[in-house]
Amino acid sequence: MPLAHTSEQGDGSDLLHRLWIYTNYDCNLSCSYCVAESFVGAERNGLALPQVYSLIDEAVTLGMTELFLTGGEPFILHDIFSMMHYGLERMRVTVLSNGILLKGKRLGQLEALPHRERLTVQVSLDGSNAATHDVYRGAGSWQKAIDAIVRLKAAGFHVRLGTTQTPENSQDLAAMCRLHRKLGIPDEDHIIRPLVRRGFSA
Ligand code: SF4
Repeated sequence: MPLAHTSEQGDGSDLLHRLWIYTNYDCNLSCSYCVAESFVGAERNGLALPQVYSLIDEAVTLGMTELFLTGGEPFILHDIFSMMHYGLERMRVTVLSNGILLKGKRLGQLEALPHRERLTVQVSLDGSNAATHDVYRGAGSWQKAIDAIVRLKAAGFHVRLGTTQTPENSQDLAAMCRLHRKLGIPDEDHIIRPLVRRGFSA
């Protein structure tokens, strides 16, 4: 499975501008629809820090302006803050997370990063209530995601929400939008994508 890829601009330009890096494949959740087949205890299969630095350097040389870090759950890694630091000094950075680990020491490490204005933390949230989220992501995960979003917003981070549209939440999306506005997240920072039978998704 590739651990890094690039993506093109949405305007049809053939200029590559995004570098995606799959930092690791292990996770602290075991969502049934995970396209990366990540789960608690999965083999890490990650990239070493020098490899990540080298990929970022190459991306900058090619004129890329955005780095996306995803997994697995990136914040399981001790090195994730070094990866983000290196990236933030050179480009905009988005890190995708379920948010659960973003508290205490890790939240402090996140707050200590430079160029915070270039950073987006994208948290997965699949519904306005636990029933629509936890069915794929596990009991208790909705409340933990909400708590993480509240902590991140209180700490002043740019938070984007990623919602996977499923049969369970398709009637809940309007309520979901009311909730994210209440949490201080505007419509342009809410991404809804369809459930896909891609990768290892069940
Ligand atoms: S939190 Fe994300 S990476 Fe982890 S199992 Fe769920 S979908 Fe996969």
